[in-house]
Amino acid sequence: MQALANSAAALRPRLKGEEKCNLRNLVVPANTRRLTRLSKRRRNAFEAKMWSDLEEIDFSATAAATTTPADVSDVSRDACGTCRGFCCAWGGTHAFLGKTTLARIATERSITNHTELATLYFDLLPERSYSGSCVFHTQRGCALPRDLRADICNSFVCGGLQAYLTDESGGRPQPQSAGPVIMATTGDKIIRAARSTQDGPAALRLPVSGRRQP
Ligand code: SF4
Ligand code: SF4
Repeated sequence: MQALANSAAALRPRLKGEEKCNLRNLVVPANTRRLTRLSKRRRNAFEAKMWSDLEEIDFSATAAATTTPADVSDVSRDACGTCRGFCCAWGGTHAFLGKTTLARIATERSITNHTELATLYFDLLPERSYSGSCVFHTQRGCALPRDLRADICNSFVCGGLQAYLTDESGGRPQPQSAGPVIMATTGDKIIRAARSTQDGPAALRLPVSGRRQP
């Protein structure tokens, strides 16, 4: 914990006067993957998995209703934006899209056949995505609209973000208005830092070394 506090202190000179009084830490991982053209091999793997899942869907049945994903808070938006989607690496060539999600989408969008549902997703595959990450993981974030994502994509919160959002002592949500300094890190190195604001993340210039203080 002391190392994290020191990390925030290293960024303190970058903050304006009133912000220094309101300094809070939010440490998340950093996506450091490179953008690359989505390969035919990865595209084919996604399409093969999709067709396999679609085989198991009964389009005459109505899938369980789901709730519209809630808007994320400013802090969550800015943390994930500064991190740039480290956790999306786990989406690989499946994007967590299984038969349960696909049946839900078919019901919500009144889709009645395999080809229509498959085409909906295939048309959204990006030209470029992060190397080795989810096939939908692009420089601008997820290429899928929120209602087409798997539930886990709309609900997952990593440990660093959860620790900030939840009061560890009592499990109470913390106020969102504090506007933390977000540090996206790899090992002991700060890769990116930003101040969360109502208008989005305001990038902070890193200290010269970019390393956490001992
Ligand atoms: S949930 Fe955590 S790991 Fe995932 S994108 Fe957001 S900050 Fe990054
Ligand atoms: S579908 Fe979108 S949110 Fe889910 S893992 Fe892939 S890029 Fe991330």
